[in-house]
Amino acid sequence: MAIERTFSIIKPDAVRRNLIGKILTKFEDGGLRPIALKKIQMTRAQAEGFYSVHKDRPFYGELVDQMIASPVIIQVLEGEGAILRNREIMGATNPANAAEGTIRKEFALSMGENSVHGSDAPETAAEEIRFFFSDDELVG
Ligand code: ADP
Ligand code: MG
Repeated sequence: MAIERTFSIIKPDAVRRNLIGKILTKFEDGGLRPIALKKIQMTRAQAEGFYSVHKDRPFYGELVDQMIASPVIIQVLEGEGAILRNREIMGATNPANAAEGTIRKEFALSMGENSVHGSDAPETAAEEIRFFFSDDELVG
């Protein structure tokens, strides 16, 4: 499998509960390397733009409110098949359906406050990385 890059967010619910280290450990132990990482407070415009694919869904307003409520960690993860691997380490969107040992199984509070975001395909990964990072921030 090829080395890929994917975009990841440790969401406000997890950052508030001081879970950054525990979540990063899951990614590192799962074979992914953070090659760029920062803590930011997302603006409403950023959150609305980032999640614009969901703008017609009933949960969009609540999702945006949750994402801007307090700071997040944004990062680029690199590794073998990183896009799928990241989704495996995260677990299912609904924590009730997430497999044992996944981040969402262990840490998510609800369907909305589910602790992490991860890109779902190569095109969205590239787009999402570009949305938050410049090329010179991807330091490897
Ligand atoms: P994922 O984050 O697993 O890729 P989606 O892209 O489908 O999931 O949804 C984006 C985010 O929107 C989810 O992670 C979750 O925070 C929120 N979300 C999705 N579906 C719902 C729902 N039915 N109710 C509340 N929030 C939701
Ligand atoms: Mg998604």
